[in-house]
Amino acid sequence: MTEPRRNKTFPASSEATADPPKRVAEAARSGASETASESETEAAGEALGRDLRAGDVVLLYGDLGAGKTAFVRGMARGIGANPADVSSPTFTIVQEYAGPSATLYHVDLYRLEGAEIDDLGLEDLVSGDGIVAIEWAERWTGRPDDVMEVRIKDLGDDRRSIELGTLP
Ligand code: ADP
Ligand code: MG
Repeated sequence: MTEPRRNKTFPASSEATADPPKRVAEAARSGASETASESETEAAGEALGRDLRAGDVVLLYGDLGAGKTAFVRGMARGIGANPADVSSPTFTIVQEYAGPSATLYHVDLYRLEGAEIDDLGLEDLVSGDGIVAIEWAERWTGRPDDVMEVRIKDLGDDRRSIELGTLP
């Protein structure tokens, strides 16, 4: 990962027709951004969501309370789904939010490990034609490596750093 830039602006959705690796690269070039509230983190997720297309996969990393779910709520808005539906998937491991042109599948692996994760069929999910967002993605040893990653860190108070990139 390159040194994060301290820009506050996420890329506009001008790459709609670019192929997925190009769009991932564009997002990665935007480096890191800081937010100062939950709604700003949602706005960052929304900006990314507007650029996402069927088949895209976003892996989210960050401690409990970092803002992963807030970011996914923005992603849902970005694809035109109802963000009010987005919460931490406590009992259902995978939640679906339908947008006009794609469905967002929201997975939270926080309470799962090992065989429980292997049994979810995530390989099928990420090779399907939905958009997939996975919280605690590090718990899935079989996660693909050619997808987008979002790393959120708590900088104290309501400040968060959000890094977009691709897995090494
Ligand atoms: P996670 O899914 O990573 O466990 P959540 O999105 O569920 O985290 O919760 C993030 C919590 O942090 C919420 O209570 C939210 O109000 C709070 N918060 C404070 N500042 C921010 C910020 N800049 N971005 C996102 N969440 C924030
Ligand atoms: Mg969460």
